[in-house]
Amino acid sequence: MSEYKKPTTEAEFAANFHPKKPLMSDTEAYYESSRCLYCYDAPCINACPTGIDIPLFIRQINDGNKEGAAKTIYESNWFGHACGNVCPTEELCEGACVYNNSDVKPIEIGRLQAHATDQVIRSKKKLFRTGKDTGKTVAVIGAGPAGISAACELRMLGHAVDVYEAKAQPSGLCVYGVAPYKLTNEEAVEEVAYLQDQFGFNLHYNKPVSGRADFENLEEVYDAIFIGIGLGGTSTLGIPGEDKKGVMGALEFVEVLRNKHHATPVGKKVIVLGGGNTAMDAASESCRMGAESVIIAYRRGPEEMGAYSFEFDLAKKSGAKALFNVTPVEVLGNGSVTGVKFIRNRSANGKLEPIASSEFVEPCDMVLLGTGQGKQVELLKEVSGLALDQKGRIVVNEHFQTTNTKYFTAGDAMNGGVEVVNAAAEAKKAAHGIHSFLKGK
Ligand SMILES: Cc1cc2nc3c(=O)[nH]c(=O)nc-3n(C[C@H](O)[C@H](O)[C@H](O)COP(=O)(O)OP(=O)(O)OC[C@H]3O[C@@H](n4cnc5c(N)ncnc54)[C@H](O)[C@@H]3O)c2cc1C
Ligand code: SF4
Repeated sequence: MSEYKKPTTEAEFAANFHPKKPLMSDTEAYYESSRCLYCYDAPCINACPTGIDIPLFIRQINDGNKEGAAKTIYESNWFGHACGNVCPTEELCEGACVYNNSDVKPIEIGRLQAHATDQVIRSKKKLFRTGKDTGKTVAVIGAGPAGISAACELRMLGHAVDVYEAKAQPSGLCVYGVAPYKLTNEEAVEEVAYLQDQFGFNLHYNKPVSGRADFENLEEVYDAIFIGIGLGGTSTLGIPGEDKKGVMGALEFVEVLRNKHHATPVGKKVIVLGGGNTAMDAASESCRMGAESVIIAYRRGPEEMGAYSFEFDLAKKSGAKALFNVTPVEVLGNGSVTGVKFIRNRSANGKLEPIASSEFVEPCDMVLLGTGQGKQVELLKEVSGLALDQKGRIVVNEHFQTTNTKYFTAGDAMNGGVEVVNAAAEAKKAAHGIHSFLKGK
C-alpha cells in the first residue's frame, strides 16, 4: 500500500513529487566539489555520452567560477540543466566515479551540474556568441532535446534556424514524459527560453509537420532539414478489452500528469503492464497520486526487466508491488475496466511458455500500458527516399545524414529511444554533419 495521500492541491502535489535531486545551495556545492579527486583521464568523462569535462567544471564550481562551470557544461551539452536532473547518473558519470571502487559515495555530478547551470539560467547570463552568418537556413522539426540541441549548434556555426514544434511548449519528453520529481515543467521550459535568447533560433509552436506537402514546402525553403520528432504514442498489446475505459498508455498518463498535476484522474487499484523505465515511472507516479494499490506486472523475471534497477527500487519504495512471470491475456470489465486476466509463464531456453490452467484475475480500476512507444513510420514514409530500418528507426550514415541527403536526424527517432543525453550528444554531431553538407564537403 502506498504511503502517499491523494494530492488535492498544487502544494500537496509538490510535496508528493518532491525533487529526487534537489538543487544544491552554494555551501553544499562547495563541499561536494571539494571531494573531487580531479582524476587524470577521468572515467566520468568517458561515461558521459556528451563527454563533458566533469573535473574541470567541478573545479570551476569549487573556485567560485559558476559561469565558467556552466560554460564548460554547455559547450558539450546544450541540455546541461535538464541532464543534470534527469540523466541516469547511477549508470553513467556517477557510476564511473572512482569513489565507487572504495565503497565511498560517488561525487554528485548531476546535482553539481544542475547547480551551475541553474545559476546562469536565472541570471540570464549570455555565455556564447553565435557564428558569422553563412546565409544558409535549416528547418528543425521538433523542439525536443534533439531538435533544440541541433538548433543551438547550428546557430553556433552561423546558420539561420526555424524550429517547427507540434505542441504548445518546447522540450519534448522533458515536459511531456520525464517524471516530475526529476524535472519540473518550469525548469524544462526555462532552459529552452535561455538557449533561445542566447542563440536566436525561431521557435514556431503548434506547427506539426504533417505530410508530404509540408515536407516538400520545407525542402523548397530551406537548405537542410533536421528531423527531431522522437517516437510516437504507446503501442497496444493486442489483447481483448484494451479499449475499456480506464486503460491508457503509461506515456499518455504521464503527459496528463505533467500538465494537470493534482487534477489528474488516477485509479484506486492500478495495474502497470511492462518492465521498462516508463512502466516504473508510471508506477511511482501512480503511488504518489495516492492510488491505494499499484502492481507492476511483467512477463519475465526481475533480472530480465528493461528498467534500471534504481528505477524499480524507487517504484517499490513509493509503494508499488510487482508480479513477475505473468502475461496479460484479457482486460475485463463492462465498459470500464474491473481487472486483468493473467496466465503464469515459465521461461524455457529463453522462450516464454504459458503454464496450463494457471490463469487468475487481478482486480483493478485502471490499467497503464508500459508497452513501449511506437515509431512515426507513416509520417516518415512521406519523406521521399528516406530509409527506415526494420524497427522503424531512421537510417543514417556517420554524419547523421539520412538516405535523402537533405535530411539529417538524431535522438529517439533515430536511436529508437534512449535518454535525453543521447539525443543531445547525437544532435550536436548531426549539426556538424549539416554544416559539412552546407559547405559542400
Ligand atoms: C515516460 C518517459 C520517461 C523518460 N524519462 C527519462 C529520464 O528520466 N531521463 C532521461 O534521460 N530520459 C528519459 N526519457 C527518454 C527521453 O525523454 C528521450 O530519450 C528524449 O526526450 C528524446 O529526445 P528527442 O528530441 O529525440 O524526442 P522528444 O523528446 O520526443 O521530442 C520530440 C519533439 O518533436 C515534436 N514532434 C513530434 N512530431 C512532430 C511533427 N510531426 N511536427 C513537429 N513536431 C513534432 C514533439 O512534440 C516533441 O516536442 C523518458 C522517456 C519517456 C517516454
Ligand atoms: S550530462 Fe548526464 S551523464 Fe553527462 S556528466 Fe552530466 S549528468 Fe552525467
